[in-house]
Amino acid sequence: MQREQKITLREMRESGSTRLLVYCRDYKCAHSVVVDASRWSDDVRLSDLEPRFTCQVCGHRGADVVRALAHGHRLARAIGCVKLRGTKRGLTA
Ligand SMILES: [Zn+2]
Repeated sequence: MQREQKITLREMRESGSTRLLVYCRDYKCAHSVVVDASRWSDDVRLSDLEPRFTCQVCGHRGADVVRALAHGHRLARAIGCVKLRGTKRGLTA
Protein backbone atom coordinates (compact mmCIF):
# COMPACT_ATOMS: atom_id res chain seq x y z
CA MET A 1 0.00 0.00 0.00
CA GLN A 2 1.39 3.39 -0.91
CA ARG A 3 1.56 5.90 1.87
CA GLU A 4 0.22 9.34 1.22
CA GLN A 5 1.99 12.36 2.63
CA LYS A 6 -0.28 14.04 5.09
CA ILE A 7 -0.41 17.57 6.47
CA THR A 8 1.98 18.88 9.11
CA LEU A 9 0.95 19.52 12.68
CA ARG A 10 1.39 23.25 12.00
CA GLU A 11 -1.24 23.07 9.26
CA MET A 12 -3.45 21.04 11.53
CA ARG A 13 -3.14 23.51 14.41
CA GLU A 14 -3.81 26.43 12.06
CA SER A 15 -7.06 24.74 11.16
CA GLY A 16 -8.02 24.62 14.82
CA SER A 17 -7.32 20.99 15.72
CA THR A 18 -5.07 20.08 18.64
CA ARG A 19 -5.74 16.38 18.84
CA LEU A 20 -5.12 13.37 16.65
CA LEU A 21 -7.31 10.39 16.00
CA VAL A 22 -5.07 7.33 15.79
CA TYR A 23 -6.40 3.99 14.75
CA CYS A 24 -4.91 0.55 14.35
CA ARG A 25 -4.05 -0.46 10.77
CA ASP A 26 -5.15 -4.02 11.42
CA TYR A 27 -8.69 -4.01 10.11
CA LYS A 28 -9.65 -6.92 12.35
CA CYS A 29 -8.67 -4.87 15.42
CA ALA A 30 -9.30 -1.26 14.36
CA HIS A 31 -8.82 0.04 17.89
CA SER A 32 -8.66 3.81 18.00
CA VAL A 33 -7.68 6.50 20.44
CA VAL A 34 -7.60 10.30 20.49
CA VAL A 35 -4.26 11.79 21.58
CA ASP A 36 -3.14 15.33 22.27
CA ALA A 37 -0.68 16.47 19.59
CA SER A 38 1.17 19.03 21.73
CA ARG A 39 4.11 16.67 22.37
CA TRP A 40 5.17 16.85 18.71
CA SER A 41 6.67 19.83 16.91
CA ASP A 42 5.04 21.87 14.16
CA ASP A 43 6.94 20.40 11.23
CA VAL A 44 6.03 16.78 11.96
CA ARG A 45 3.65 15.32 9.41
CA LEU A 46 0.78 13.09 10.44
CA SER A 47 2.20 10.49 8.07
CA ASP A 48 5.55 10.67 9.92
CA LEU A 49 3.87 9.61 13.13
CA GLU A 50 1.98 6.65 11.70
CA PRO A 51 4.79 4.05 11.78
CA ARG A 52 5.66 5.07 15.34
CA PHE A 53 2.45 3.89 16.92
CA THR A 54 2.04 0.38 18.26
CA CYS A 55 -1.41 -0.92 19.12
CA GLN A 56 -1.64 -2.00 22.74
CA VAL A 57 -4.61 -4.20 21.98
CA CYS A 58 -3.20 -6.41 19.21
CA GLY A 59 0.48 -5.38 19.07
CA HIS A 60 0.29 -4.28 15.43
CA ARG A 61 2.90 -1.67 14.45
CA GLY A 62 1.68 1.21 12.33
CA ALA A 63 -1.46 3.22 12.61
CA ASP A 64 -3.54 5.63 10.61
CA VAL A 65 -3.38 9.17 11.94
CA VAL A 66 -5.92 11.84 11.09
CA ARG A 67 -6.80 15.11 12.73
CA ALA A 68 -9.45 14.77 15.37
CA LEU A 69 -12.18 17.32 15.02
CA ALA A 70 -14.62 17.89 17.83
CA HIS A 71 -16.83 15.24 16.31
CA GLY A 72 -13.96 13.13 14.98
CA HIS A 73 -14.25 10.28 17.42
CA ARG A 74 -17.95 9.95 16.85
CA LEU A 75 -17.34 9.92 13.11
CA ALA A 76 -14.82 7.11 13.49
CA ARG A 77 -17.32 5.09 15.47
CA ALA A 78 -19.85 5.62 12.75
CA ILE A 79 -17.54 3.97 10.22
CA GLY A 80 -16.75 1.10 12.55
CA CYS A 81 -13.28 2.02 13.77
CA VAL A 82 -13.93 1.87 17.47
CA LYS A 83 -14.76 -1.47 18.94
CA LEU A 84 -13.23 -1.19 22.37
CA ARG A 85 -14.87 1.89 23.76
CA GLY A 86 -14.45 2.18 27.50
CA THR A 87 -11.25 0.19 27.82
CA LYS A 88 -8.10 1.75 29.25
CA ARG A 89 -5.93 0.30 26.54
CA GLY A 90 -4.81 2.47 23.65
CA LEU A 91 -2.03 3.15 21.22
CA THR A 92 1.31 4.59 22.24
CA ALA A 93 4.03 6.26 20.25
ZN1 LIG B 1 -4.82 -3.27 17.02
